[in-house]
Amino acid sequence: MESLEQFEKGPRHRSVFLMFIPVLVLITMAVILVGFYEREVSQVRVLTDIERVGAVKDVELLLTDGKSGLRSVQVYLVQGEKKVTVFEGEYPRQGLIKNSGPEQAEVQIRLEPAALKFENGEAELLVTIRDYSWWNWMEGNLTTVSFPLELDTKPPLLYIADSPRYIIQGGAGIVTYSLNEEVIKHGVMINDIFHPGFPMPHKGGGVYGAIIGLPFDLERIAKSVAMAVDLAGNSTAKPFGMIMRKRTPKRDRINVSDGFLDRKLPEFMSYYPELQGREPLAQYLEINNRVRQENNRIIREVCAKSRPERLWEGRFQRMRGSSRRAGFSEYRTYYYGGKEVDHQVHLGIDLASTRKADVKAANSGVIVYADYLGIYGEMVIIDHGLGVFSLYSHLSQINVAVGDAVTKETVIALSGASGMAGGDHLHFSVLVNGVFVDPLEWWDKNWLNLNILNFL
Ligand SMILES: [Zn+2]
Repeated sequence: MESLEQFEKGPRHRSVFLMFIPVLVLITMAVILVGFYEREVSQVRVLTDIERVGAVKDVELLLTDGKSGLRSVQVYLVQGEKKVTVFEGEYPRQGLIKNSGPEQAEVQIRLEPAALKFENGEAELLVTIRDYSWWNWMEGNLTTVSFPLELDTKPPLLYIADSPRYIIQGGAGIVTYSLNEEVIKHGVMINDIFHPGFPMPHKGGGVYGAIIGLPFDLERIAKSVAMAVDLAGNSTAKPFGMIMRKRTPKRDRINVSDGFLDRKLPEFMSYYPELQGREPLAQYLEINNRVRQENNRIIREVCAKSRPERLWEGRFQRMRGSSRRAGFSEYRTYYYGGKEVDHQVHLGIDLASTRKADVKAANSGVIVYADYLGIYGEMVIIDHGLGVFSLYSHLSQINVAVGDAVTKETVIALSGASGMAGGDHLHFSVLVNGVFVDPLEWWDKNWLNLNILNFL
């Protein structure tokens, strides 16, 4: 206020002040025009890895213009003289003064170089963006950015060398194949189960194998293919035929006694307290069903990723001095008070020996699980590499920890009756890529040589 009063003191001061008004107006206009005529270019980022582009590739771009905003974008696929528009977009004006267009926009493009008849080899993705600047006779700033890429629309060539002619439900086998280029994913699909492949460098470069396991209850092989996806995303799948043999179902009857429930349920209540307060039989059925399924899901997860190298040697060993009780894929019917109350399938082999007998690793490998797990009680899982796992359950003591390397001589645990076990025994299972298979095959030296080792 003081300065204003000073201006008002005399007419001379006032005229000086008035003289400045046009200057101020000019400065203001200049500032506005500089704003309208901003010359900052837009930015573009490719969010997808486009170094190698296959027959079909989805690409995502992020466009940014922090000043006047985005007006339009064109994306071209260019190779030599050939230039094809693969995307065009316009952003309507949102306002006049600032941010006339959006500051950011994502663009999704599906590149289909094979369909557009581009040749394999070097090419570029050319992006041009216009903004809402008044620069360039109101045309806006033009940003042009080029991204080099390699077009590779040829799927990898896959040749199957060997595949099983026959396979039994719950049985295993190996498929070997060669590939003509580097791939990011390869293996064998049996229906909806993927069996990852592994390199076999001693057989030469580009030679691979995948050990497969058939679920014990598979009704029909609807799909059996060896497949691969190359670095550019091109995929190939070669079918092969296998004749599936059905297993003769074995049936077993299990009587659930009150004595058994009284003895077993307290152990489960400490792990599954939500079951407390229910009838003993209801508790038992919940454990035998929901808990069992949950346990099997965890086992499948643990056995989904194996070491890509073979850690095992020769046949898998069976617990010494043990006698076989329940077998693999036995259909069990459970009775309580003479009434049928449940059905389950036994996915391992029960071996009985002395109480707290030494349990040795069936083959060399690395411990991937050593903990309590529901119906399995104290349990150990060994990864033997190439997708093969062995499982030991109802243990009374675990001597190993996750990450330990073991051999056939390592006493990994002592047998017991933890989990859903009536008496001291070892429940032994073999899994191939998360699928429970028949341990008998893996104990059998001849079967192993004929079906797996001869091809490895
Ligand atoms: Zn068992």
